[in-house]
Amino acid sequence: MMDKIIDGKKISENILEELKKKISKIGQNKIGLAFILIGDNPASKTYVKMKQRVCKNIGIQSYYLELEKTVSEDEILIELDKLNKNNNVHGILIQMPLPPHINEKRIIYAIDPKKDVDGFHPINLGKLMLGEQDIFFPCTPYGIKILLERENIEIEKKHLVILGRSNIVGKPLFNILIQNQKGCNATITMLHSKTDNIKKYTTLADILISAIGKPLFIKEDMIKKDSIIIDVGINRIWDNEKSKIVGDVDFENVLNKVKKITPVPGGVGPMTIAMLMENCYKSFIKKLSL
Ligand code: NAP
Repeated sequence: MMDKIIDGKKISENILEELKKKISKIGQNKIGLAFILIGDNPASKTYVKMKQRVCKNIGIQSYYLELEKTVSEDEILIELDKLNKNNNVHGILIQMPLPPHINEKRIIYAIDPKKDVDGFHPINLGKLMLGEQDIFFPCTPYGIKILLERENIEIEKKHLVILGRSNIVGKPLFNILIQNQKGCNATITMLHSKTDNIKKYTTLADILISAIGKPLFIKEDMIKKDSIIIDVGINRIWDNEKSKIVGDVDFENVLNKVKKITPVPGGVGPMTIAMLMENCYKSFIKKLSL
């Protein structure tokens, strides 16, 4: 059974180890990544701390700016402008979600696309759609592509079904894997909450990628035998009065039927952080070459 489980944690550790070696040749703390945290959401704080720890481990200098949850859009834009102009900062990450009074688009659009290591700026997303490679790919879809590559999972000529069409996972993932390029060329069906009869499509998937945020939604009768399952979902549920994190896929229920599957936690999640670091490294190298 263990050989069915794709160890995203191990793959991400390998990527980080490779990055650490490359960064040690540049010099410690030459690459800078700025984090902006708005408000006091404890989960967001934990995510930022986790990412800062990874920065420290591989020799990236992190900068941290915490703003009150009542901060105005204009104040955020002033801070962003400073970071955009700061030569020590190669990447800017604004931890989502933002407080409801802040227009997320206005903030994302104000990040210098050359420092947009999350890959959410429309310039990067537009270029992604055009198949350009010299961009920042959004970290989670990028992580999924690399995970498939490192597991030697061919996607050309395969039928992929992506569940979820969000701007941060489903849509960019579609645009990455559909390109007429080596390692891509998938045939893709995209599903969303308005899709009628989800099962009709998921049972046809050679590779099923779920990013809907619905705990344990995918059951054994919804998948094709010997398919590969990539579970992006991160959902907190209560089990015997204890909270735990599960994916969109009912892991235990499908395990016998699948060829390979990513666990939650320990699958796609760690890849997302590794790709953030990869994007920071790329940003630094790109700036050097200009
Ligand atoms: P999102 O913005 O809420 O989008 C969810 C998507 O799923 C939407 O397109 C929605 O359809 C679709 N959907 C919802 N319920 C559905 C159903 N019953 N059947 C079919 N489609 C359905 O979520 P997100 O930000 O993409 O995140 C999705 C999940 O991935 C969450 O659990 C999140 O925590 C996790 N995530 C994990 C990572 C990671 O690093 N592992 C990174 C990002 C997100 P509509 O468009 O019609 O509403």
